[in-house]
This record gives sequence, C-alpha cells and structure tokens, in this order.
Amino acid sequence: MIAERIKRFIQKHGGLHLRRFGKCLDSCWMRIKAHTYLQKAKRETCMNSKSTEQKTGQLVLPGERLGVIEEFTPDTGTFVKDGVIYAMVVGRALRDLASRRVSVYPVVHEIRVPKVGSTVVGQVSNVQSENAAVRIFQIGGKLLSGVFTGVLHISDVHLRYVDSMFSVCKAGDIIRAKVISLKNQVYHLSTKDTDLGVIYAFCSHCGGSLVSKRQGMSCPRCGNIEERKTVFDYGKELVSTNGGI
Ligand SMILES: [Zn+2]
Repeated sequence: MIAERIKRFIQKHGGLHLRRFGKCLDSCWMRIKAHTYLQKAKRETCMNSKSTEQKTGQLVLPGERLGVIEEFTPDTGTFVKDGVIYAMVVGRALRDLASRRVSVYPVVHEIRVPKVGSTVVGQVSNVQSENAAVRIFQIGGKLLSGVFTGVLHISDVHLRYVDSMFSVCKAGDIIRAKVISLKNQVYHLSTKDTDLGVIYAFCSHCGGSLVSKRQGMSCPRCGNIEERKTVFDYGKELVSTNGGI
C-alpha cells in the first residue's frame, strides 16, 4: 500500500528522489522507513515546487537556486554545482515541464553609457565663450541607452591655446570627443587629439553643410567662411540618423 502511494507520489512529482525510494521499495520490510522518506520527500517537494513555481517566469539573479539535477536538466543560462542548478545570469527563469528543462533567459541587455576614456559622438547644443554643451548620443558607432549631456571646456579643446569657443564649434555641429572625467556627475569632454573635434559643421548663415578648405570651413551654398576645430577625417564618420540630430 505504501509502495503504491510512493509510486503515485513519484508519478505525480516526477521522480524526485526516485533512486532513494527505489531502494526502499525493494526492501518491503523497510516500509516504515519508506513512509518516513515519503513524508520527508513530500515536504521537500512542496518546498521545492513552491519556490520553483515562484521562480518560473520570475526575475532571478546569478547564483539563485533553481532546482536540483534529479528534477531538471540544466539548460541555457544555468550552471550546476553539487547537483544543484543555479542561475548564471540575470533573467527570467523558465522551466519546461514536458522536457524537464530549466533555463534562464537574460533580460538585462547591454547598457551603453559613456565612461571615462570613451570616445563619443554628440551634437553641440549650446556654445559660450569658454564652454560648449554637447548632447552625447553615440559611442563606438552605436547609439547610447539615452542621451547624455557633456561639457567641453576651452582648456580641453586643443593642445595649443584657444581664445574663444566660438572658433571651435557652433550649436548644431556634430563632434567626436573623449570623456576625460565624470566629476560632479558631468561628462567632461576633450578634443585634444587630431581624431577629435568637429566631424560635421553647419553654416551659421544658411545651415548648409560646411566643407573643409585650406582657408577654413567653407559653405558651398552661400560662400560663408567659418572656423572650427575639425578632425582629420572631417565629414567621413557615419552618424546614426536617429541619434538626436
Ligand atoms: Zn551658408
């Protein structure tokens, strides 16, 4: 009778501690012990199934327990230690009851934010005599997870002395710069290298794209000549079209 109960239990609960029960079933005289195991296993299964069900589809953190290898086959996003299956990544824990597989699907995608040392691309939003504000939207050719504001100070523009920021860039220009500091939660930028500076400039008279000429930045549309601190590969970088321009 107990053996039948155990069998039903195993059918119902999918073979948890099957091996241990199998030994008990072989020795009928150990029914009392089997009964103890049954009670214990029931308690464990209740606890396990409760915790696993709670975790199914739920957010789990790396190292979070998902089950044991007697219950499930570990799949994507999991690892096993001492017979216990843990989440390897931050994600949603999913268990396939048909195949008895447990996996974790990552929900945290790569978040791109500027860091000190990052080369970023942004649009100049405001220029004053000593500072320019830049809306940073791209890093390493990829759009950032949001738009960040950076500040370019006149002392970080060029290796040589620069007397006015108005000769460096103008509002609307696209610049490539390096993040040199995050002091006071502000992205401080530098354009001191030859590959840093204005990559696209626009005429302050007519808005046309400026081209780099020997005498300065020239507007083919209205003939206006302006000054900028440009990069050596001016006008060549591909900028994401939906990047806040
Ligand atoms: Zn023009």
